[in-house]
Amino acid sequence: MRLSKSVVGNAESDAVADIIMNCGYLGMGEYVGFFEKELEAYIGNPDYRVACLNSGTAAIHLAVAAVTRPGDEVLVPTFTFVATYQAITAAGCVPVSCDINPETLLIDIDDCRKRITSKTQVILPVFYASNTCNRDEVYRFAEEYNLRVIEDAAHAFGCVQNNKKIGADGDIICFSFDGIKNITSGEGGAVVTSDSKILEYVQDARLLGVMKDSEKRYAGTRSWDFDVVNQGYRYHMSNIFAAIGRVQLTRLDKEFSPKRKQLAAEYHKLLKDVPGVKLIKGIDFNHTVSFIYPVMILKGKRDAVKEILNEKGIPTGIHYKPNHLLTKFKTDYSLPVAEEVYREIITLPLHPELSIREVNYICSLIKTFIE
Ligand SMILES: *Cc1c(COP(=O)(O)O)cnc(C)c1O
Repeated sequence: MRLSKSVVGNAESDAVADIIMNCGYLGMGEYVGFFEKELEAYIGNPDYRVACLNSGTAAIHLAVAAVTRPGDEVLVPTFTFVATYQAITAAGCVPVSCDINPETLLIDIDDCRKRITSKTQVILPVFYASNTCNRDEVYRFAEEYNLRVIEDAAHAFGCVQNNKKIGADGDIICFSFDGIKNITSGEGGAVVTSDSKILEYVQDARLLGVMKDSEKRYAGTRSWDFDVVNQGYRYHMSNIFAAIGRVQLTRLDKEFSPKRKQLAAEYHKLLKDVPGVKLIKGIDFNHTVSFIYPVMILKGKRDAVKEILNEKGIPTGIHYKPNHLLTKFKTDYSLPVAEEVYREIITLPLHPELSIREVNYICSLIKTFIE
C-alpha cells in the first residue's frame, strides 16, 4: 500500500512521446500556453489568468515577490509544508508564524491580529488538507488591515467554495502540480490572478526577467533584442511538463476527483464516532478534492497507532512539523495549538488507486486498537 502516489499511465506517456518525437522543443513553448488556457477554462472565470511555473514553491516565491519589498512581513500558519516558508524568505520577506484553529487546522485569525505590525503586507493562508472553509474570514481580515492575500492552494486544486472553483476569485492563488498533488505535471505549479500587473510580473520573472518573452515563445519565436528591469529566475514550465499536466487535467473530474471525494468521505464516516479520534472540521466532502487525509489521535496514542498500521504494511505520514520549531524559522514565542496538533496528527493513505475496501481495513485496525 502507498501513502500517496502519481496516477499516470499510457496517456501521459504518449503525450511526452509526442513532445519528443513530433514537437522536438522540450523547453517552454506553445504547450505551456495550451496548458494555461485549459487551466483557465477549468477554473472558469475568464478574468482570472494562469501563469505556469516549474514548482508550487516558485509560484509562492514569485507571488510574494510581486507584492512586497524585502523586509516586509507575511502572516503564515506555522502548520504547513516548509516550501511555503522557504518561498517567503526567498523573496526577502519575513514569515510571521501564526497559530492554527484547533478544529479546522487553518490559520487562526485572532492570533494573526496579535502579530500585525507596520511591516505586515500579506496574509498567506494555507488550505491544509484541502479545507477552504476559512477563505471568507481571511479576506475580511485582509480588507480590515489592507493586506494582500496569497492563497497557498497547493492542496486545493479542483476544490469548490461558494460555488466557485478555487482560483476563480480572490487576490493571488498558488497551485502545485508536483508528483503527488491532485493533478501532476511531473513537477510544476501556477499563479492565478485577475491582477494583470501581477500576471505580467510573474510571466517575465519566470524567464530571467526578460520582458514579454512568454508571448514570443508561444508564437514559436524568441526575444533576441530585449530588456530586463527586475530580478528574474529560471522558473518557467517545460513543454514536457505541460504535456503531462494537460492529460492529468482531463482525468481530474472523470477519475481523480470522484475517487478522492469518495475515499475521504468514507474515512470520515467510519472514523467520526470513534472516541479518541478527532477529525478536521469544516471540510465539505461534496465540494472538496482531498489531497491528504490526516486525523488526530488523542491521549498520546498517535505513535502507537502509527506503529500498528506500519506492522500491517500501511504507510502513514505526519503533515507537518510546525515551521516555527525549525532552526531557520525559530520563534521566541510558542504556538500551543500547532504544537499539540503536531503530537496528535497522522496522515492516512489517500490516492485515486486506493480502494474503499482498503479504507475500511485501515479504519477497522484503528478502531480495534483504540477500543
Ligand atoms: C506541495 C506544497 C507546496 C509546494 O509545491 P511544490 O510544487 O512541491 O514546490 C507548497 N505548499 C504546500 C502546502 C504544499 O503541500
